[in-house]
Amino acid sequence: MTTKRELDFSAFPPGTVTEYTTLVCLACIFDIFTKQLGLAPRSAYSEIKRYSPTIKELTAREAVRPFFDSEEKNPRCPYCNAAKRWHARLDTQAIEGGKASDTARRALVKTLAKKGDQFPVLELKSDRRGAFFDWLDTLRVKLDLLEDGWLLDATRAFLERREPKTNWTAVFEGLRAIRPSARISEGWEREGSRLFLSPPLYNEALLVQYLISRSHEHGGRTLEGRLTLMELIRRLRRGGYLNAHSITSSDQFEILEKLLDEVAGSGQLKLYYIVDRREFLDKVKTVYASYAS
Ligand SMILES: [Zn+2]
Repeated sequence: MTTKRELDFSAFPPGTVTEYTTLVCLACIFDIFTKQLGLAPRSAYSEIKRYSPTIKELTAREAVRPFFDSEEKNPRCPYCNAAKRWHARLDTQAIEGGKASDTARRALVKTLAKKGDQFPVLELKSDRRGAFFDWLDTLRVKLDLLEDGWLLDATRAFLERREPKTNWTAVFEGLRAIRPSARISEGWEREGSRLFLSPPLYNEALLVQYLISRSHEHGGRTLEGRLTLMELIRRLRRGGYLNAHSITSSDQFEILEKLLDEVAGSGQLKLYYIVDRREFLDKVKTVYASYAS
């Protein structure tokens, strides 16, 4: 067997691609097809080869049979106890459609099309708000909220999403602090080991930090310390952010809705899911061989 080559997503701006991984148990699948549906192994094999999981199955936070998630090196199937050689890994990359990613996506899909059923591409109509919260969920899982560094990491992820063309790896090299600066009205500037953000950009970064860490009792943690939604809104009002974006409501949840439109964007969006079925197809073949013998 040849070594599995990872797909190259380096042409995509950070923040436009989200990766999902799940394991599928082929013993469970063969069991469903042969015992429950009564198919002969040969027909089960050709059905399973054609089978392509749905977006929901591939990206669910809580996997259901025959899918499961495990961090272990040699996991057992939680449903039938089958060993590792019966499992296949399915990697899925979700790409947010849009100006920043369309060229790279078209080029990638074109090369993948030559590989037949190894890489199905599934499309889903979504909206910017939904994509933003998916991004936020993925980010929350990646960050360690108990480590202080997460505030810088979260701000960097936000800036990468906001300004995908900037080389943020270089900007964040050796960075120690992020501060608002009244001297600049938009954008950012690096000075020594500090990154200065214009007040509007800084306030949006606070909102993202709040959304990542909010809990109902204590508010969220931000570069400005722990803030409740009310305190965050008060801060944005004082800094002129609400006025600048014509947000006039006095109800905090209505204000949050408007703020989300600013930060997440509004309107329709298309998501493209690229499914890597290579390991699945390989394993189906070996598992069938052991069934048929
Ligand atoms: Zn199983």
